[in-house]
Amino acid sequence: MYEIKRSGIQGKGVFAIRNVKKNEHLFHIDLDLLPSYSLKEIDKDPKLKANGDHSDYVGNGRYAIDLSPSSYMNHSCNPNCYVRMKTITIKDVYALKDIKKGEELTLDYTLTSVDQFAGMGFWSMDCKCGSENCRGLVVGDFFTLPKEKQSKFYRNLPPSIIKKYASRFKEHYS
Ligand SMILES: [Zn+2]
Repeated sequence: MYEIKRSGIQGKGVFAIRNVKKNEHLFHIDLDLLPSYSLKEIDKDPKLKANGDHSDYVGNGRYAIDLSPSSYMNHSCNPNCYVRMKTITIKDVYALKDIKKGEELTLDYTLTSVDQFAGMGFWSMDCKCGSENCRGLVVGDFFTLPKEKQSKFYRNLPPSIIKKYASRFKEHYS
């Protein structure tokens, strides 16, 4: 269904090797199966640090290093895939639209960024996704997204997060 190769966006990316239908299930991710580390532990270990790009928050100030295929998916401000989160650590990737063979599979990283990094503030990165609606600076805070995007996607966040931030999501309830 996919291959991992050099991407025009950044580093390696994940590419469809056949046509994919909208809403097709692409990847299951279970970070509970992986060991978890504190940022200090990752920083101290050269091998872990080298894969720092693949660290994923698992709660309680700890991170897993996920090197599964989906972890190579690049960010795009106009993505063709999305993540539905059962919990912070158990999630599934689906196609957001029909995807043609050869296209790179992308996610909007901000859509899954709520309550991350143990309150240490938000990550940010310069985006070179090249899409028309590129935000330029991408910030790891769901609540900075345009309201209509929040409304469309907040249901994919873990139920525990939706409950925790109910007052901030309330305006999207319909
Ligand atoms: Zn962008």
